[in-house]
Amino acid sequence: MTQNTTIYLATGNAHKVEEIAAMLAASGLPVKVESAKALGGMPEVDENGKTFAANARLKAEALASKLPEGAWALADDSGLCVNILSGAPGILSARYAGVGSTDDDNNRRLMDELAMVPATRRTAKFVCCFVLLDRQGREHIFTGECPGRIIQTRRGLGGFGYDPLFVPEGYEETFAQLGEEVKNSISHRARAVQALIEWLKGDA
Ligand code: IMP
Repeated sequence: MTQNTTIYLATGNAHKVEEIAAMLAASGLPVKVESAKALGGMPEVDENGKTFAANARLKAEALASKLPEGAWALADDSGLCVNILSGAPGILSARYAGVGSTDDDNNRRLMDELAMVPATRRTAKFVCCFVLLDRQGREHIFTGECPGRIIQTRRGLGGFGYDPLFVPEGYEETFAQLGEEVKNSISHRARAVQALIEWLKGDA
């Protein structure tokens, strides 16, 4: 890309903004990352889509109405998909144990659902989907996946969500044990950002 572009992230999560901004800064692309906060905050969105992309699109579109001229909107949606549960919790990851459930509640439900499932059949993946709306309002989708498996009991104190139960492929420790540096180099979010960066380098 040739000119400076500001990308507004459709999230109220400051940690995500920091993480994505850092990765884009490291790419050397002429892109500035701002949070929805700079536009007065993220509008309320009913995430009633049936896919990660549909939910990310709802968030990007909600923010797009507030964008200054020439700016882009980027939204993400992510979750954990467990093979033997036919992809659950999937888009319901944040509320797997019910509306208002905590990470602890969700982890407990996942452990319960998989209680009788042997180690060899506990494969899963984290998925992250980004929807980018460019200055012409065109949509671009970028997906990142991180395969792994769900263990029987929680290990580690780092991270958030299902991190204490998820061991990424090629490792023996959970995301909660591996620490941010390792997680941020292989995570579904990192891979989706990488796909976005490759596209920006080639096409924007
Ligand atoms: P969101 O896309 O940030 O709303 O994430 C939805 C839900 O997916 C979170 O509440 C977590 O339960 C789960 N999730 C997404 N990414 C991760 C991750 O990197 N580690 C653990 N859980 C995650």
